[in-house]
Amino acid sequence: MAPQDLNVAILGAGMGGLTSALALAEKGFKHIDVYETASDLGFVGAGIQLAPNMARVLDHLGVWKGIEAEAVNIEETSVRVGASNTELAHVDLHYIESTYGYKHMVGHRYSLANGLYQGCLKHSDKITFHFAHPVTEVHSFGRGTQSKPSFTVTPRDTSKQPYQETADILLAADGIKSIARVAMLNDLSIIPVPDVKDTNQAAYRIMIHKAQIEADPNADADLKALLASNKVVRWIGEKRHIIAYPVSNNTIYNLSTTQPDSNFAAATNATYTTKGSKTAMLGVFGDFCPLVQRMLNYVPEGEVCEWKLRTHEPLPTWVDGCAALVGDACHPTLPHLAQGAAQAIEDGAVLAVVLSRLPATDAESINKALKVYEMVRKERAYALVELAAASGRALHLGEGAAKEERDKQFAALKAGKGPVPDKWADADVQREIYGFDCVKEAEERFEEYFGLVAADA
Ligand SMILES: Cc1cc2nc3c(=O)[nH]c(=O)nc-3n(C[C@H](O)[C@H](O)[C@H](O)COP(=O)(O)OP(=O)(O)OC[C@H]3O[C@@H](n4cnc5c(N)ncnc54)[C@H](O)[C@@H]3O)c2cc1C
Repeated sequence: MAPQDLNVAILGAGMGGLTSALALAEKGFKHIDVYETASDLGFVGAGIQLAPNMARVLDHLGVWKGIEAEAVNIEETSVRVGASNTELAHVDLHYIESTYGYKHMVGHRYSLANGLYQGCLKHSDKITFHFAHPVTEVHSFGRGTQSKPSFTVTPRDTSKQPYQETADILLAADGIKSIARVAMLNDLSIIPVPDVKDTNQAAYRIMIHKAQIEADPNADADLKALLASNKVVRWIGEKRHIIAYPVSNNTIYNLSTTQPDSNFAAATNATYTTKGSKTAMLGVFGDFCPLVQRMLNYVPEGEVCEWKLRTHEPLPTWVDGCAALVGDACHPTLPHLAQGAAQAIEDGAVLAVVLSRLPATDAESINKALKVYEMVRKERAYALVELAAASGRALHLGEGAAKEERDKQFAALKAGKGPVPDKWADADVQREIYGFDCVKEAEERFEEYFGLVAADA
């Protein structure tokens, strides 16, 4: 039996699940089933940064060109004081393409998900999507003497009965609220159980459409210029910031905020998004400059959506038997480095490399290959989670010595030298993130790591 004949079950059709499915199909895997709670891909109204390390993987999978065609090339970034709109730093990003082989683009989240999905549809003989079919319980992960991975699928159509499925390999890309992660930690008897971490931060995600601006007789010249630009702007203030950029071929201006989480503070762990109040949103940024106020005012009453930002304590392992966790299920991050989806996409690409290199198809070999995936991915993903949190702390400083030190760095940068406190725009950080080719690394290290890892008892 070739590895490509193994049955692979994927939980979740988010960025990690879609990439895993596509990358495996590209490697010739013939039996891939994707189970997704939602009835379709959904149309989440939000922008997303398409960094060069993400683009490299997508290009390798043959879907980058279509996604790139709808995106916007970012050539510069500006960090500004929220209250006054005064520029603290300006970073020219033209070097990104020549240094890393790909531009730094920004796009619509749907465009990215749909690009991956369309890639999967070209392999419809290999990939089967089960939308509106949530996995409600994982019974076995296929460890040691356990039976193959097995789980219950409960169709959302209540006229249909829940049923049990098995697979040779289970990839759980079921997001930050992953039920597979909880079951896996339980199966491995990991104590103390690492838990979801409250970051005390929340985000509003806002899209202003060109048509809205064109229909507005008082439309702002500054906003029109930003919509037509190739620029990311970050307005910062104590405990809050807003990052904004145009997406969808400069037809939508996208804003994503971060502010102290007050609306979810008393909510249960199950609540991650809520309809917000426009008055409350305007109040949060009430001391930001008039340009920001005018932008926030475009959001129609009743359409304010707030997201709770949560992370997770690091997990001792992502692998149990013939199952592995993928993406936010194992390394959810704050968005301040714009790397969450990129890292989920790297996971999927690396999984396809290691599984296609399986020297044998028994459970022990599968387990060892999944551990190679963990070796290639875990340290990097957790380092970026830490860096995103640190960048957020630097951006959100209030008055005091630390802020004075940070602002000295901004001043030095204006004079042409030093690191960028907004880490995603820092050249050294970019080298670490964008300069890493996860597929190459997995291919080059597979033999060595496979020889090093021991299978689960
Ligand atoms: C405000 C904000 C801004 C961000 N900006 C960026 C950015 O600019 N760049 C970037 O790279 N990342 C960004 N991210 C992070 C990024 O969105 C996530 O890291 C990424 O979506 C993770 O992908 P995933 O596939 O692991 O999980 P998800 O995208 O959450 O997908 C999980 C999927 O699994 C499904 N599912 C869940 N449970 C089950 C189940 N039991 N059975 C079946 N299906 C299930 C869900 O419906 C969902 O479709 C941002 C995040 C936030 C909150």
